[in-house]
Amino acid sequence: MKIGIMGGTFDPIHIGHLLLGEFAYEDFGLDEIWFLPNGNPPHKETGEADKEAALAHRVEMVRIAVCDVPYFRLNLAEADTKKHSYTYSTMRKFTREYPEDEFFFILGADSLFSIEQWKFFREIFPTCTILAAMRDDKDAEEMKRQIRYLENTYNARIKLLQAPLVEISSTTIRNRIAENRSVRYMIPDIVERYIKEHNLYRGQ
Ligand code: ATP
Repeated sequence: MKIGIMGGTFDPIHIGHLLLGEFAYEDFGLDEIWFLPNGNPPHKETGEADKEAALAHRVEMVRIAVCDVPYFRLNLAEADTKKHSYTYSTMRKFTREYPEDEFFFILGADSLFSIEQWKFFREIFPTCTILAAMRDDKDAEEMKRQIRYLENTYNARIKLLQAPLVEISSTTIRNRIAENRSVRYMIPDIVERYIKEHNLYRGQ
């Protein structure tokens, strides 16, 4: 099988994430996309006092966002607040557990440009092909240059993922909710309902 890995904080999951998954699935003929909410993001602060509860909400929102799509799956390999999860070690675990399968790591431009700050990032490259999508301020030329640089320097395999350019981030969503503004069409309806029911992101 060809498996796409979509790691993230998903605080909350939004259509930018889902479009990346959908376009990677279709354009690269993948069989499954695994969404991996990170319990304790090493290069990002969640800003939540109660990490466990916050993780449970993030996981649940991913679950309800992907449950209708047969090739989208929630994967809990990184959903642990008690340890730091690093991509290199998760990917190594997957390639050992599933030696028959081929892995594709899906990420947005911001991640492609910061990947050299990730722990043991060199070890990620032999485990997968990276599918990198454009995002916000990076244009196609900058992306191609960064792809060439990483390929030449680290022997990485990286392909440009042509997904619609969506200027939405989880930060935008959280801010808009805190300001009582609409997030309709930016996140799945079911996630919007979940956020309302649990009164998330209100007091920020
Ligand atoms: P935050 O605003 O909290 O930083 P985020 O929207 O960047 O969150 P993450 O869960 O951190 O979301 O992102 C997971 C992955 O999805 C990253 O590789 C990121 O680059 C990518 N991504 C998220 N939103 C988009 C988008 N709108 N377009 C392209 N890539 C995206």
